[in-house]
Amino acid sequence: MKTKKGKLNKNWLESFLRLIFPPDIKCIFCGRDINDFYERPYCDSCAKTLSFNIGNRCRICDEPIKNEAIICDNCQRRKHYYKRAYCPLIYEDRVRQNLLSYKIDNKRYLALGYAIMITKYIGEDIKNFDLITYVPMTKKRERERSFNQSKLLAEEIGKLTKLPVVECLKKNFDTKEQKELNYTERLNNLKDIFSVVGKDNIKNKTILLVGDIITTCATVDSCSKALSKYANSISVCAVARNKLYKNMK
Ligand SMILES: [Zn+2]
Ligand SMILES: [Zn+2]
Repeated sequence: MKTKKGKLNKNWLESFLRLIFPPDIKCIFCGRDINDFYERPYCDSCAKTLSFNIGNRCRICDEPIKNEAIICDNCQRRKHYYKRAYCPLIYEDRVRQNLLSYKIDNKRYLALGYAIMITKYIGEDIKNFDLITYVPMTKKRERERSFNQSKLLAEEIGKLTKLPVVECLKKNFDTKEQKELNYTERLNNLKDIFSVVGKDNIKNKTILLVGDIITTCATVDSCSKALSKYANSISVCAVARNKLYKNMK
């Protein structure tokens, strides 16, 4: 963990730099100039085409639910290691394209806009958290990608909320692609893959775990399981979640 003084200096320097070189205040989906970037980092015409995660949704995993149920079928059957999830968008169409270009085309500037959307979506609940952490990558993968998209998101959320961002997890090895696997296979694939670093930092803490996309919850569950040995509770957030969850075994 960084010292308090070091952190203050870093925050001050960043605020100062942002004043001189303001971040791109353009719609994160189409690049049009917008006025209220820190309220809504997208323009009115993109808003009409985006898949927002609104309406009735599961109080645990945040998946949209068609009927009036409070908890989705999957969460009634399956224990999660996190308390609840927050995902402002649905992973489809333009949201999917945008997130892919963030990760693959290295469009790091999108992180601030995503962080604003996540922070607005979490709302007042943000007061419940002591610290922020993120889904880690192996060092090898981070070098290949040149950045960890979840870590960058966590850092932007940290600046917006003034919560400390703490490295709490290490990814021990890379696994097979998860796409073709069902939930149980995914969990097995991820067994022992994450371990906690600096457990004293998280003892009895309420943690916000940041990921980029939530698909089956297997990755965030696996991270939360490791953290839950020491932490008080863990909630997770991501830019988007997909709706395929209900179709999985
Ligand atoms: Zn736009
Ligand atoms: Zn659920």
